[in-house]
Amino acid sequence: MKKNDEFILDIIDVTTDGSGVGKIDGMAVFVPLTAIGDRAKVKILKVKKSYAYGKLLSLEKPSKSRIDNDCPCFNQCGGCVFRHISYDSECEHKQNKVYENIKRIGGVDLAPNTIISDSPDRYRNKAQYPISLDYNAGFYAFHSHRIIPCEDCRLQPKIFSQITTAVTEWAKEKDLSIYNEAENKGFLRHIYIRKAAKTNEIMVVFVINGNTLPNREIIGRLKELCGESLKSVQININKEDTNVVLGLECKTIYGEDYITDILCDVKVRLSPLSFYQVNRTMAEVLYKKAAEYAEPENKNILDLYCGAGTIGLSMANKSKSIIGVEIIPEAVKDAEFNAQNNKIENARFICGDATAAADKLAKENIFTDVVILDPPRKGCTPEL
Ligand code: SAH
Repeated sequence: MKKNDEFILDIIDVTTDGSGVGKIDGMAVFVPLTAIGDRAKVKILKVKKSYAYGKLLSLEKPSKSRIDNDCPCFNQCGGCVFRHISYDSECEHKQNKVYENIKRIGGVDLAPNTIISDSPDRYRNKAQYPISLDYNAGFYAFHSHRIIPCEDCRLQPKIFSQITTAVTEWAKEKDLSIYNEAENKGFLRHIYIRKAAKTNEIMVVFVINGNTLPNREIIGRLKELCGESLKSVQININKEDTNVVLGLECKTIYGEDYITDILCDVKVRLSPLSFYQVNRTMAEVLYKKAAEYAEPENKNILDLYCGAGTIGLSMANKSKSIIGVEIIPEAVKDAEFNAQNNKIENARFICGDATAAADKLAKENIFTDVVILDPPRKGCTPEL
């Protein structure tokens, strides 16, 4: 096999980033935009030692799982990779992947569980939009910082696109400069929006390479657009030469410093920097499942990597006590506030590293009955 060869390929598998996989002489060929069940005409683009990349030229026989994709940005922005197949097929792939990974990497053959799911559309409660130099909000392309303008992303609440349009129009009108990552120059970096799905409260944050907004007319326009729901407008100061979106300092220029959502009957305060699950409906399902396994009745619970305390607090009224551990001081403040605000008196929070805190608690002879473990992607330490 060599570059530019053409083959007819049966797609028999799919990768986590959405590429279909076929085999030629036992060698895996990855072809984006194909689906399991496709018979595809494919052109080879790159040949490596044990695999190759190909490009879909045409379909000899389309897979039954194919659907018409409904987004003009599909396959351009680095977001969705499965919009060309039905949601049922997507869930089936994901279920298989989890099963295979637990078996292959974890060495445990667990019977696959059916995915529990809600709507795949408009489920997110948070988005951070970079802005192109010609005043379009959008998302980055795959593996790149090229901005793909996106008028209405199907994953976000509809109001987000109205907000980004209002902001980009205002920025253009007022001749605000747009941040240019390559040169670390320009003013407006990102538009960051959060919407509390249960209370409808909206927060808009301007991420800027500067100290203040030179023009505040946009606040009036946002109020007109969002009505009562607009609860907080802030600036986030990021002057660093970095691709990290948010800086460490936020200043409120309208309304409150935070918005409030309700999760598992707990009022949750969300400041711009605190972590919150992006899919509220499914977070609730997930936390209820955790409570089912934890059987918190009358137990002492340790909630490690607790963020704003949401998982532990959702079980607090049944349990004997909750100790939350979290490394970010602002998140710990949010957790303490959330406990108080919900009149939860049996929870306390430790600001620090989870491993160190668990060690310290053990040395103080404080042992808990249940541990909730929700670390960031890199996982927890072996000692923990
Ligand atoms: N359980 C929370 C947050 C999960 S995100 C929720 O469901 O909302 C993971 C959290 O771990 C983040 O809040 C992050 O700040 C925190 N974290 C990261 N490293 C940590 C460490 N070494 N020790 C304690 N917390 C840590």
